[in-house]
Amino acid sequence: MIPYGRQDITQADVDAVLAVLNSDFLTQGPMVPRFEQKVAAHVGARHALAVNSATSALHIACLALGLGQGDWLWTTPITFVASANCGLYCGAQVDFVDIDPRTYNLCPQSLAAKLEIAEREGRLPKVLVAVHLCGQPCDMAAIHSLARRYGFRIIEDASHAIGGKYRGEYIGNGRYSDITVFSFHPVKIITTAEGGMTLTNDEELAHRMNLLRSHGITRDAAHMTHEPDGPWYYQQIDLGFNYRMTELQAALGISQMDRLDDYVARRHQLARRYDEVLADLPVITPWQHPDNYSGLHLYVIRLQLEKISKTHREVFETLRAQDIGVNLHYIPLHTQPYYQEMGFKVGDFPEAERYYREAISLPLFPAFTAAQQELVVEALKNSL
Ligand SMILES: *Cc1c(COP(=O)(O)O)cnc(C)c1O
Repeated sequence: MIPYGRQDITQADVDAVLAVLNSDFLTQGPMVPRFEQKVAAHVGARHALAVNSATSALHIACLALGLGQGDWLWTTPITFVASANCGLYCGAQVDFVDIDPRTYNLCPQSLAAKLEIAEREGRLPKVLVAVHLCGQPCDMAAIHSLARRYGFRIIEDASHAIGGKYRGEYIGNGRYSDITVFSFHPVKIITTAEGGMTLTNDEELAHRMNLLRSHGITRDAAHMTHEPDGPWYYQQIDLGFNYRMTELQAALGISQMDRLDDYVARRHQLARRYDEVLADLPVITPWQHPDNYSGLHLYVIRLQLEKISKTHREVFETLRAQDIGVNLHYIPLHTQPYYQEMGFKVGDFPEAERYYREAISLPLFPAFTAAQQELVVEALKNSL
């Protein structure tokens, strides 16, 4: 089976992890800060905090922004469940904004219209999670100007987008948002097995997230309510979690970072090849904004169902039967039973639902060979 995505592990990665195994620290040593500095310097962020997953990163990002009961978090329905669940973890309510039919990202016009209504009804969101689907950046300038007008905060869920650029600058530099989150799950662009990172330019947010990732405990007397009892003393000043990344993971991340730009370049090369060879087929290939540079985590095609005799499901099954590990990113969140319990229903976000009826993610990963790509294209032709 050719998977839709998979990690690329080199001997340098293996050596880096083994060196940590033979060192003094398996956790809370020098590798995590080194990894954080490397990512922060690469993307141009002031603070970076490594954690054990992007899901954890989203959770502490929401908490740091003060999200809680009585608040609203808005996001796109076409994303992984974690982009919305982070709001529920904090006791907030979740709502969605329909997607743009060209980029498949949250549509800024729909956002503007929904904000206008929410303002009248007194239920403006506190946090918006902007997901860069497939690695393609959202229209951050438009979202940022709406945030200034309506007073909400922005988290960029850049789980698909490390190494990508918005208007010539790396995603994660925080020019248009409060916090950016990366995922290092093995199918993503670089990996630490499990792992995530949260980045910000705001010192106070960084401080709060740093506490939250490690039990809400500080050893810094400046942050304590009274003088330390002695040199052993630490104080719990907030309710945090153990969301720490291990040294093994950080060492792997540091090593993977050396190849980040090459990985994204390779993804672009493979995507251009798909664009060429799929041009005459009854599918819509992904549109890329000319001012931006996608991280290209995913290559999603949409079937032009009116031009083919098979159903979406039949095409998908025919591909899987030919050992092509296609996937579907994502099932609209508002149609998940868990979210329907909250009152969402099919029909609420029609562009997202249309996308879901047509989308298929084709294999795309750095070690994907030209020969494998030809197999995928042949299989797709057969299945159409
Ligand atoms: C993968 C992913 C996450 C969660 O990442 P983990 O590191 O697995 O917790 C969140 N949001 C999006 C959009 C993702 O693709």
